Amino acid sequence: MRRAIFPLACLLIVASQAFSCKEKEPEIVQQTLSVSPTTLSFEPEDVSAKLVNISSNATWLVEQSASWIKVDKGSGDGNGSVTVTVEANSGDDRSGTVTIHGSSTLTVKAAPDVVVTVTQRGKHVVEVVPNPASFDGNKRASTTYQLLIYSFADSDGDGVGDFKGIQDRLDYLDGLGVTALWLSPAHPTSSYHAYDVNDYSTVNPLYGTEEDFKNLIDAAHAKGIKIYMDYVLNHSGSGNDWFEDVKADPEGSAYKDFYVLSKSPDADVAAGLVDNYAGARSPGMGSWHSLGDGDLGYKGKLHFKVDWTKTTKTVTVTETTEVAQSSNPAAKMWLYIGSVGNVGLYETSTNIFEITLNVDTSWGFLVRTTTDNSWPAGTKYGGKAGDSRVTFGQPLALDNSTAADITFGQATYYFASFDASMPDLNYGPYDKASESPAFQAVAATADKWIKDFGIDGFRLDAVLWIYQSVIKANQSFLSQWYDHCNATYKEAGHSDNIFMVGEAWEDHSTEKLYYKGIPSCFEFNYFSLVKSTLGGNATGYVSAVNTYLTEHKAQRDDAITSIFMTNHDQDRAASDLGKNAAKEKQAAALLLTTPGKPFIYQGEELGYWGTKANGDEYVRTPILWDKAGKDCAKKGVNNKVDNSMLTSAISVEAQDADSGSLLNVYRTFSRLRNTYPALADGTMSAAPVSGSSFAAWYMTSSDGQKLLVVHNVASSSRTTAVTDDMSKPVALLGTASYEGSNLTLGPNSSVVFQLK
Ligand code: MG
Repeated sequence: MRRAIFPLACLLIVASQAFSCKEKEPEIVQQTLSVSPTTLSFEPEDVSAKLVNISSNATWLVEQSASWIKVDKGSGDGNGSVTVTVEANSGDDRSGTVTIHGSSTLTVKAAPDVVVTVTQRGKHVVEVVPNPASFDGNKRASTTYQLLIYSFADSDGDGVGDFKGIQDRLDYLDGLGVTALWLSPAHPTSSYHAYDVNDYSTVNPLYGTEEDFKNLIDAAHAKGIKIYMDYVLNHSGSGNDWFEDVKADPEGSAYKDFYVLSKSPDADVAAGLVDNYAGARSPGMGSWHSLGDGDLGYKGKLHFKVDWTKTTKTVTVTETTEVAQSSNPAAKMWLYIGSVGNVGLYETSTNIFEITLNVDTSWGFLVRTTTDNSWPAGTKYGGKAGDSRVTFGQPLALDNSTAADITFGQATYYFASFDASMPDLNYGPYDKASESPAFQAVAATADKWIKDFGIDGFRLDAVLWIYQSVIKANQSFLSQWYDHCNATYKEAGHSDNIFMVGEAWEDHSTEKLYYKGIPSCFEFNYFSLVKSTLGGNATGYVSAVNTYLTEHKAQRDDAITSIFMTNHDQDRAASDLGKNAAKEKQAAALLLTTPGKPFIYQGEELGYWGTKANGDEYVRTPILWDKAGKDCAKKGVNNKVDNSMLTSAISVEAQDADSGSLLNVYRTFSRLRNTYPALADGTMSAAPVSGSSFAAWYMTSSDGQKLLVVHNVASSSRTTAVTDDMSKPVALLGTASYEGSNLTLGPNSSVVFQLK
């Protein structure tokens, strides 16, 4: 009960005047107090200011319950506001209060306190620790290892890789998860690389015997590893018995139809008589070479007239009875002829040079503008390749680029897409290629390897050049070759189709057309995509891969997109990636999580580098099996080895011992691909992520298994929202964590989650 207060003045009045003074009661008002909002919530890193509005008719006091809650002032009067902030929270969830107290005075009755609840979420960062299903040993994927027989493993200590060496290392290949080997050409050859085949029907004795080869195939099959032979259909080696026989007797050889021969190539091409050109007027690549037959020389007296007055320079040779002249020592123009060497011509009028000579030459002659026997470029003039025979009395146009010997007799020429040591095989009119004797001879050898040795497929070399880049001709040829080999494969008792992949080294738009002939070609554009992706922009990765797959399938239902980084004809992937270990590892993770048929090139899994600048051997380096270099097949690459690369750090032995090595990244992701059907042969579809550094996609198998693959290709950590369940990670490269729906991947990190 409120105590009555009597003012002193009234008491005095009561005492002196007996006057009764009535007390005036003070007016008491109720404080109003409303607060909005009454709940504030903060994220762990949220230190933003949040405003609490207060409506009141009197003074109020503010009190917070914990030191992590900050208010900007402790009291106020009337309408106002308080700013509330919190400290960042690295601990658990927490809550506290900010209480607004009413205040009483003589005339104000305080309002009840109003409590504002303040909550802040704690950090719930979950570090990704992969827990893949255990691999049951059933290799579901279709991953191929490109292996160079000569430089992989040497079993007999002669420095050259061999079949037994490969067989001894099958556990290594099995551990790498591969399901097939593409072997470099296994046949006898004149080169170390063996792309000039001297006998398709047997194996190179440097590599072992046919029995050794069969043993390797059987042992590989026992480990679920298929064998693909490298078949060189475009050309044989010049050391092939077929070609040797033609050289010995171009007219009479039983093999003269095996090669592209002509005595007048230009005229025959122009007349459409060269089947190998398939109607083209010029070859996609290559040139004509003399077989060296025929009597090219001349013995007798000749008059030479060189006409230098016109753009097209000519030489005219006529038989004569005039007196022979001696060489002009002050000449500006020279002949190089027979065993005499340089002979100076006489300038008989401006830029006309002549001489009469007794000639004795077995090979012909050349025209020269200098006697400098270092033969400076452009100073030697001869005929065009395949068109350098002189006809007496008629001018012959001179050429200083090819500068072929000017001959008096007629040689036979053969065509070679590559160099003279690789004469092109002649398969006749393309629509009847399978009827040609060369086709039937080479096909008979393929039958032997399929039927008697049990090989599982072929990699076909240089398919663009079989018919000089004429696509419809090459499609037709490849289709005939495939049908022949597949029929043999079925006869051998197989229910599936034989595998065949072609080297159609072209842009995707042309390469895809070769699927009309065979079920697979190498996608030569894939590694460019990987490099640009690892350059930091991953936005186009999924759509580009899906374009490859879709456009190959559009050519044929059974299309298999073969993806790879580099092969034996290209600079090494590690060199192209700047020897950046993080990028090399992520390139492996990209390759092995991408649909298609991945190929791993020998040494890529160990981070081998090398460029072709110093020779092809430097991209074909032998495997260093142990730190001591045992079984290292250096002689297989002519001892041309970058020894700075062959250090213990890059040996198989050293990388075995390092759980974070590139080799172990390959093993991890290859095993993953073999474990999960969705990765092995599932369908790719884009997954929503934010930020150009992320490539993310789903892989879904036909029976509904679904994985989420996410790669951060940036060289720093990045975070993206992910709408899928991240509770079942099955693979990790680098680092990854998530909090709520936010996934954070470390630099060049990759993660795979199982969703279903
Ligand atoms: Mg050997």
